Amino acid sequence: MSLPSPSAPADGSLQQGLHQDGRRLTPQRKRVLELFEHRGSGCHLSAEEVHQQLASLQLKVSLATVYRTLRLLADMGFLQELELSEGGRRFELAHGDHRDHHHLVCIRCGRTEEFESEPVLMAGADAAQQFGFKLIESSLNVRALCPNCQD
Ligand SMILES: [Zn+2]
Ligand SMILES: [Zn+2]
Repeated sequence: MSLPSPSAPADGSLQQGLHQDGRRLTPQRKRVLELFEHRGSGCHLSAEEVHQQLASLQLKVSLATVYRTLRLLADMGFLQELELSEGGRRFELAHGDHRDHHHLVCIRCGRTEEFESEPVLMAGADAAQQFGFKLIESSLNVRALCPNCQD
């Protein structure tokens, strides 16, 4: 099995990704991407959830294929992979204007909430400037227990 080459631009630019990789968007990959676009930005889906949604649309796709498709769409720059909990990775749309937000994630059930924080963005910008790095994104992932999972 050969892994897809990571051709996505570092900043996850959707436009650039479309231009470079549009030809590689098979109907099935498009369908998965549409699931995310239909739900809108701010939705974070696991492979299992995508698999369930496809099944509810009468689309028979194996979970392994869903995993591969999600990883590929992330490599192509359409989706962003969030390594939030041990329970499973989640994916969200990699929109340019939907980058500077942060995630609060329940490590038990995977519930994910977004929040914004100016101080986090400023801390990222400060650190990048201090070391002469070119800033691309500052995001904070907070691992926590949601109200339902606090026993
Ligand atoms: Zn998000
Ligand atoms: Zn929870």
